[in-house]
Amino acid sequence: MNAEAHLAEIFGFNAFRPGQREIVEVVAKGHDVLAIMPTGGGKSLCYQLPALLRDGVTLVISPLIALMRDQVRALREAGVEAGALTSHNSEAESEAVFKALHEGRLKLLYLAPERLASVAARDMLRRAAISLIAVDEAHCVSQWGHDFRPDYLRIGDLRRALDVPLAAFTATADAETRAEIIARLFDGREPEIFIQGFDRPNIHLAFEAKNGPRRQILAFADARRGRAGIVYCATRAKTETLARALSEEGHPACAYHGGMEADQRRTVEARFQQEDGLIVVATVAFGMGVDKPDIRWVAHVDLPKSIEAYYQEIGRAGRDGAPAETLTLFGADDIRLRRAQIDESLAPPERRTADHARLNALLGLAEAQTCRRQVLLRYFGEESGPCGNCDNCERPPEVFDGTTAVRKALSAILRTGECFGAGHLIDILIGNETEKVRARGHDRLPTFGVGKEHGRAEWQAIFRQMMGHDLVRPDPERHGALRMTEAARPILRGEAAITLRKDALRKAAQRRPAAKALVNEEDAPLLSALKAKRRALAERAGLPAYMIFNDRTLIEMAEARPATPDEMMKITGVGAKKLESYGADFLEVINGAVPPEQHPARRRLAGREAGSLYDRLAEAQLRLARGGDGLQKPMSCSASLLARVAETRPRDEAAMLRILGERRAERFGAAFMEILREFD
Ligand code: ADP
Ligand code: ZN
Repeated sequence: MNAEAHLAEIFGFNAFRPGQREIVEVVAKGHDVLAIMPTGGGKSLCYQLPALLRDGVTLVISPLIALMRDQVRALREAGVEAGALTSHNSEAESEAVFKALHEGRLKLLYLAPERLASVAARDMLRRAAISLIAVDEAHCVSQWGHDFRPDYLRIGDLRRALDVPLAAFTATADAETRAEIIARLFDGREPEIFIQGFDRPNIHLAFEAKNGPRRQILAFADARRGRAGIVYCATRAKTETLARALSEEGHPACAYHGGMEADQRRTVEARFQQEDGLIVVATVAFGMGVDKPDIRWVAHVDLPKSIEAYYQEIGRAGRDGAPAETLTLFGADDIRLRRAQIDESLAPPERRTADHARLNALLGLAEAQTCRRQVLLRYFGEESGPCGNCDNCERPPEVFDGTTAVRKALSAILRTGECFGAGHLIDILIGNETEKVRARGHDRLPTFGVGKEHGRAEWQAIFRQMMGHDLVRPDPERHGALRMTEAARPILRGEAAITLRKDALRKAAQRRPAAKALVNEEDAPLLSALKAKRRALAERAGLPAYMIFNDRTLIEMAEARPATPDEMMKITGVGAKKLESYGADFLEVINGAVPPEQHPARRRLAGREAGSLYDRLAEAQLRLARGGDGLQKPMSCSASLLARVAETRPRDEAAMLRILGERRAERFGAAFMEILREFD
């Protein structure tokens, strides 16, 4: 079978995602490869499929045990011989893996990197017929990255010892990490490099100024009831209060943070993976271990720490390619917090400067006045048109010339010696005679009361946007006091103008965030019914729901409404094994009746041309059961015999005779040959 046939038969996909075909081809050919693909781009297929095309075993090294076990289960569900050796294995599980390896049945062997430290494991690998090494999350070899795994440094030795090609995969694209991967995994010998675009068009992007975060998040979650989501918070305490608030509103929700016991955390991970619509309220500790393809939304109660972190965190949504939504809240306090974290970190000064720049990039995205995706992708070096799938595209923000307001604010900052925070500065601008204002004599400043045209809330939004544009920064030495930056100087001098968002000035309470429907109204009830069926099957099998079929597959079923196994086989995500296991159940939901039982030999051909060929042959055979004149002794071909003809397509009478045998060839041979010619 070729790559395309495997793609449809085993994985049930009708088409490759961007980049997959090229990568699969060269990996299957045995070239060294480094592929950089965004999360959800479909990296695993790029080594799983070549593993099936190549002789021998593909060794997969992956940093997370839960993910490995998950992939192995999913592969087995698709009828592929795969096994994992990890510290979580039971004796019997490991035994079964060794047996399959020994008998030459195993196609994919997943191995935790820790195993590479053991001599016994290395010997075992040397004796096994390993023909390819695939390294998932290859950036874990980078000592400077936050996911560094010392055991990854052993992979280079292993490759040298086994002398087989190596394919490395990661979503981290920066040049330093790439160079380190090449140095450590490939001994500096350049592999073929593939870089896939960063865009995740199915993820809706939205930001909102923070004003009542609890209410904002509850409303967002409420509009998405029943859909799996993650809420990211900056602090552990907040995860717990918010999880409780969501539970009180009747959502299945739990908290997750680094301070929890390891097994508590594992329970949450497992529940999230297994259940259909759980909400996890988490710190960023809930991260790399999350491989659920059907996360429908990600919300940030607090601003992430950089644009990279933002991209990674929202990227966990919608890996199945079906629509997913995000909402990021941000306010002046977030900016202060993130700035302070950078200033207080022990990193060298140039690192801190870079971190401020990364935060600035995110703030630029938060305050963006045009398509957010364009801004995001431009940061990663990609140009694109307006996306139509972000809040700014849907409702272009109203803007106003903020130059005068900003100059008034800067003047208040400078005249008070850059010693005060936004609250006090606003009091001065709107002419509010507080005790502090009077005590410092600030009511006698020329700026006192010059900003009465805006209310307090409006000024807060202006200050936030000034921080967002990095015109002012909280001074780390002086507790939140705002300092003017170089970037503000041209505005102060009247050499540059600035446009600010007006909508951020209005109270943001107006809109209730409406959820995007996954399917149109007529298909919605069917989608719910399909989901209910999936849940029941998943519970019975003890599998995560998405492993039966993911959301994207159910959506396609609800829209296309396949009536037969052949049509069902055309749905993305339905492969031969899944059709066999679950096809009838879902066809029954869609068509309200149990589909007529098919012979297994015919079912195997579902969705392929050989299937229709089979049907034509079966028709002809029925017609000729008593011969052309209807007077002969009844005779028939078995289903597997018909399937063999349909699959092998004998070229001539002689070949047909070899398959059918003399008596049957005499009765059916000519008619069958005629049908075969039509299919040529
Ligand atoms: P990554 O590791 O790159 O984040 P995965 O390999 O986990 O992504 O794939 C993400 C999701 O996309 C999975 O649910 C997978 O089944 C699905 N997928 C991968 N390739 C295809 C394809 N060609 N067509 C449809 N779905 C695909
Ligand atoms: Zn857009």
